[in-house]
Amino acid sequence: MYTYGELMDDIDYLGYNGAEIGYIGKSVWDNAIPYVHIGAKGKNQAIITGAIHARENITALLAIRQAYRYYKEPLSVGIYFVPMVNVDGAILLQNGAPKGENGEFLRKINGGDDFSLWKANANAVDLNVNFDAGFGTGKQNVFVAGSENFVGESPFDQPETQALRDFTNKVKPFFTISYHALGREVYWQYHNRHAERDRRLAQKIADHTGYMLVDGDGGSAGGYKDWCVLQGISAVTVEIISSVHTHPIQDAWLKEEWEQNKDIPRVIEGLAQLL
Ligand SMILES: [Zn+2]
Repeated sequence: MYTYGELMDDIDYLGYNGAEIGYIGKSVWDNAIPYVHIGAKGKNQAIITGAIHARENITALLAIRQAYRYYKEPLSVGIYFVPMVNVDGAILLQNGAPKGENGEFLRKINGGDDFSLWKANANAVDLNVNFDAGFGTGKQNVFVAGSENFVGESPFDQPETQALRDFTNKVKPFFTISYHALGREVYWQYHNRHAERDRRLAQKIADHTGYMLVDGDGGSAGGYKDWCVLQGISAVTVEIISSVHTHPIQDAWLKEEWEQNKDIPRVIEGLAQLL
């Protein structure tokens, strides 16, 4: 699996070669959550996030590979990649629970040391239901700490979601992609003020990837995409990986998604013309 350490090496490499790099903030375990920026500065910025769910860290690998492919290419828009939002989750999958009280808490919730299906952060909060967008109203929400679907005590009570919120407010993107796995679907709806525009942009992503455009929010609430849409940002959740597969996801399956996703930065450039 693609690890936090490998991500940091890749970020450093891109930074050394001229890309802007930095941190959006820190995690529960005080690990930096890195970003890399490619393309133009100025008005039209986008944000691509991956691995907000721990077991989906193949999406971090996808995002970093997109950054590698385009960091030397001229782009008329800018793209901020936050490849691994849930860095502690990735570390938990790689190393298992740490020693001490927090580790015992996580191991107990998980029912053992195999964290390969874990989605939440190091507080056992599912970061993608912790945003202030219909908080606690999602179909699958739970209200007790768990490996997935626990909303937290209140919106934005986790450092990772605070960091992504503050970063997004600073960047003011016109478009965001939240990469998840699996299903090969594109979600765009959440009480959209600009539904016609948002559907048009999402359709372009669906056309390019061949993934299915899904109308309706699928019962989701509290996600990053949902929150972006409420801020007036055009936003999609893109589920990669065919549903013939099941979790845990193998890195090798990225081969099956790369052709459809490698030129997403170029597609985003085209979306800026459609606003
Ligand atoms: Zn997910």
